[in-house]
Amino acid sequence: MLTSRNCWRTIRNASRRPLSLSTSSAQYDVCVIGGGHAGCEAAAGSARSGARTLLLTQNIDTIGELSCNPSIGGVGKGTLVREVDALDGLMGWVADKAGIQFKMLNSSKGAAVWGPRAQMDRKLYKKHMQKAISEQLNLDVRAGSVFDLVFDHSQPLAPNQWGKIAGVKLESGEVIGCSQVVVCTGTFLSGEIHIGLKRFPAGRINEAPSIGLSASLDSAGFKLGRLQTGTPARLDGKTIDFTGMARQDGDEPPSPFSYLNASVDNADKQIPCFRTATTPATHQIVKDNLHLCAHWLISTHSGPRYCPSLEAKILRFNKDSHTIWLEPEGYDSDVIYPNGISCSLPEELQEPMLRTIPGLENVKMVRPAYGVEYDYVDPRELTATLETKRIKGLFLAGQINGRSDSLLRSAQTFLLMSLSPGTTGYEEAAAQGIVAGINAGLAALHRPPLILTRADGYTGVMIDDLIVKGAEEPYRMFTSRSEYRMTIRSDNADLRLTEKGRLAGVVSDRRWTELQRTKNSDCRSYSDIPFSYSESAGMELAWLQCQTRWCHAEMLCYPNVKASDVRAATPALSGVDLRILSRVQVDGVYSIFVSRQEADVRDFMKDETLVLDPNLDYFAVHGLSSEIRERLQRIRPATLGAAKRMEGMTPVSLVLLLQHSSAFQ
Ligand code: FAD
Repeated sequence: MLTSRNCWRTIRNASRRPLSLSTSSAQYDVCVIGGGHAGCEAAAGSARSGARTLLLTQNIDTIGELSCNPSIGGVGKGTLVREVDALDGLMGWVADKAGIQFKMLNSSKGAAVWGPRAQMDRKLYKKHMQKAISEQLNLDVRAGSVFDLVFDHSQPLAPNQWGKIAGVKLESGEVIGCSQVVVCTGTFLSGEIHIGLKRFPAGRINEAPSIGLSASLDSAGFKLGRLQTGTPARLDGKTIDFTGMARQDGDEPPSPFSYLNASVDNADKQIPCFRTATTPATHQIVKDNLHLCAHWLISTHSGPRYCPSLEAKILRFNKDSHTIWLEPEGYDSDVIYPNGISCSLPEELQEPMLRTIPGLENVKMVRPAYGVEYDYVDPRELTATLETKRIKGLFLAGQINGRSDSLLRSAQTFLLMSLSPGTTGYEEAAAQGIVAGINAGLAALHRPPLILTRADGYTGVMIDDLIVKGAEEPYRMFTSRSEYRMTIRSDNADLRLTEKGRLAGVVSDRRWTELQRTKNSDCRSYSDIPFSYSESAGMELAWLQCQTRWCHAEMLCYPNVKASDVRAATPALSGVDLRILSRVQVDGVYSIFVSRQEADVRDFMKDETLVLDPNLDYFAVHGLSSEIRERLQRIRPATLGAAKRMEGMTPVSLVLLLQHSSAFQ
């Protein structure tokens, strides 16, 4: 049995003869490897493009598994879910069916930082995701573990390419031909689980790791590295004393994720979460036993800073107590997920440690916490479609797109680390998956790609950050990552992206009709009115002035005015969809900032349209420093704008690049 990381090295270094196949024998256009959040969106997105698609995953029953937190969304991340939905993806639609508690985070602040979030019933989430996948046209699903990639060496390649995809090989030895592959293997590539000093190969607990693919990627020249993450113990809710804990209920009414839904399935059955916290006694047990945690001892400190382990929090922050949210895992389950205390202590120490927490004095643990370590690929290997630069037809999406070798960490991200609640990468994975899957489908059908820029949405911001700067760790979305957050908000993802998706041929008639309804709504004409906003004008005056529809719109912009109250008090608005009225309200409040930001976006787009030759020899550009030359040669930015955003880029280098490019155009 494989028991240590050396085994992975042995497998990876074993000499391999690349498998070769002709693309003419393809059975599918696109094969997607992995049925996690990235894989589900990739498979459905590719199939919506019209490409014949196969989703290959180790176990069909785990399609749509929430590996860690039973929740979807959050600040920044909720906007990603809405963007996936705007491109006709699955995550938001499924979350509206499986959600058991919905909250709009930051609802007391401006719409630019609102974060739709919901607790999920784990079983319902999987059930509805599996149903959506099984009903998708052009999509076949098969259980199978992919062991190797297959290449077509008969075709001419671009100068910087190593090969072209021709198929995948399963562990059983069967070869499936296809022209595009999307790899969405999450934490499974050479995965190894750590509990105390025990280490064993696994992608998640009780699930086999993926061992062959790392070797395939390695032999094709990809730079691989190791990343770590972890999950807390699961608790028996019947043994928890919730009295005395702060209770958190869902919003009334809940806000759906999907633009297709006016409400969510379980709106009348929301269930609460509870808050407790660690104590000095908890911290003492962790500190006394760090030498028994393999995960911590071998740590490269590349674990997720945005959801640090309990060990990391205790050592990094000088605090006596850390918040824990007790989150229910579903309607027909007593299991509670304690958000905020992932750890890798030996199993026998975990229950005593948990019992030092108020309310958990008699708790029974139903599954121990554990850490997992896995291979990732440097995302600077990718283009904006998430296709790799070195292998034509190979796309990567989700947790596999990990950190770069940069150890630089900004003060801003350190601050965010201490502020953000526990978070996984489900939404980031889904948003990468949808872009990779759609583009794999479009490439197979020889259609133009779907490229999202930083001005289009958070998905564009994330992809640009990943491919230009790399990611120092599993990438987490925050609103502060976007320079255009006044215009790219969770309330307007459909207005930003659905038309792009429709042009790419991946948006259904139903969603397109819904978008037209929203756009043409009588009420939306309010948003064209220039809003004047004055805090001194009292509400009473506003009500009196409100004789016309024009005034209803203005009134919506007064502080602390709820769209629902305005509608309730105004007979003329009784038939207006509340979601549309709320959008009008946001448009009004943001109208001044939006027009300023639109000018910034126009400037940004000027640089984005200056495309750089993908085969440019940067060593031939006179005057560049050798450091910048090497970086440009490695990253190969697609546009002048992307070059501008690269780490270490100087104004002089940009001018040299521009001069060189124009001279050769
Ligand atoms: P996954 O959801 O992991 O899905 C991968 C899929 O690929 C699985 O279905 C698997 O069966 C399949 N697969 C793998 N290899 C093959 C193969 N060769 N052939 C066929 N199928 C294959 N993220 C954080 O940011 N913070 C956290 O705190 C955090 N905690 C985590 C704790 C644990 C224990 C685990 C396992 C993951 C955690 N994550 C965390 C990661 C989180 O799960 C991911 O962000 C998210 O699930 C990524 O989605 P994905 O689609 O990329 O991969």
